[in-house]
Amino acid sequence: MAEPPQGVQREFSLARLTTIRTGGPAEFFARAGSIEQLERLLAWAAGEGLEVGVVGSGSNLLIADAGVRGLVLKLDQELSTIELDGIAGDKLACGGGARLPAVSAAAARAALGGIEFGVSIPGTVGGAVRMNANAYGGALADVLEWVDVVSAGGTERRTPGQLGLEYRRSNLKPGEVVGRALFKLTPADDQQVKATLAELRRRRKQAQPAGIKTFGSTFKNPDDPRAEGRTAGQLLDGAGCRGMRVGGAGFSEKHANFVENHGDATTADVIELMAQGRAAVKQQLGVELEPEVQTLGPVRWPEDWPRR
Ligand SMILES: Cc1cc2nc3c(=O)[nH]c(=O)nc-3n(C[C@H](O)[C@H](O)[C@H](O)COP(=O)(O)OP(=O)(O)OC[C@H]3O[C@@H](n4cnc5c(N)ncnc54)[C@H](O)[C@@H]3O)c2cc1C
Repeated sequence: MAEPPQGVQREFSLARLTTIRTGGPAEFFARAGSIEQLERLLAWAAGEGLEVGVVGSGSNLLIADAGVRGLVLKLDQELSTIELDGIAGDKLACGGGARLPAVSAAAARAALGGIEFGVSIPGTVGGAVRMNANAYGGALADVLEWVDVVSAGGTERRTPGQLGLEYRRSNLKPGEVVGRALFKLTPADDQQVKATLAELRRRRKQAQPAGIKTFGSTFKNPDDPRAEGRTAGQLLDGAGCRGMRVGGAGFSEKHANFVENHGDATTADVIELMAQGRAAVKQQLGVELEPEVQTLGPVRWPEDWPRR
């Protein structure tokens, strides 16, 4: 094996880079601070035949307990900045590692509207693009002008139309990293934008558990007539899963579609809890839930679950 590029660490613990705090180490781990550095790391991994994974804020991510073979990347420095851009001053240029709530706050300070919904999503720009994250009716595609997608082959600019954005999906492949993004926003009254952010924060606090170790939505809201318009959380609640526990993991008492780590949960506990919740909803209400949470490494999904 060729000597890893500078900064590559071995057996790096990933649990603390996720909000649920479970899972094992990465065989190789590196922080990429610029597009050039990211390209070098991806080229090295490709040359060595290593699989590549990316961790954003780890806010919808389960890491395998056995750890992750290959190279895991996290973006920082230049790739986590937020800067005003464009002649009209109505654009924000962001690194893929910039945190979405910080983007919303920067937009408010610059008297720009359109990305207020981001205040409720505790992920990065890259993770939000990969997941097509949204909240409170706001949609990423409405404000995204382009993203720079970096892979072992180099950097390619894509528009929202080229990202295949669907409910919680994009067409980004493993090894394709969102390095930068440009948001085109709308000039607005800064006090009004700040008031909207405060209101969205207040609504979130009311609806969701705060201060717990969780990765947000566990299952997608189903597109199945048998659900009769009910969300995944309402279905889990209806099937009696609120508060259900397996090992150190449990469905939250406040929001049944949130899994909570009570202290010593493993990823295997979370998967088993999800399996029991999914089976209860299928048996009692006839609806098959599809996981929303993403995985890195050999996480063992039950055989009959939809592949994503
Ligand atoms: C309390 C709470 C509330 C939440 N509320 C919402 C909500 O309202 N709406 C919503 O949509 N989601 C919500 N989420 C889920 C989560 O915040 C989003 O899915 C977010 O977009 C994930 O971003 P991340 O940076 O944390 O990605 P991660 O969780 O780190 O990763 C998710 C996926 O994106 C990939 N990825 C990460 N960064 C990049 C990159 N730069 N390039 C390519 N791929 C990348 C990862 O490899 C993985 O496949 C919530 C989560 C929590 C914990």
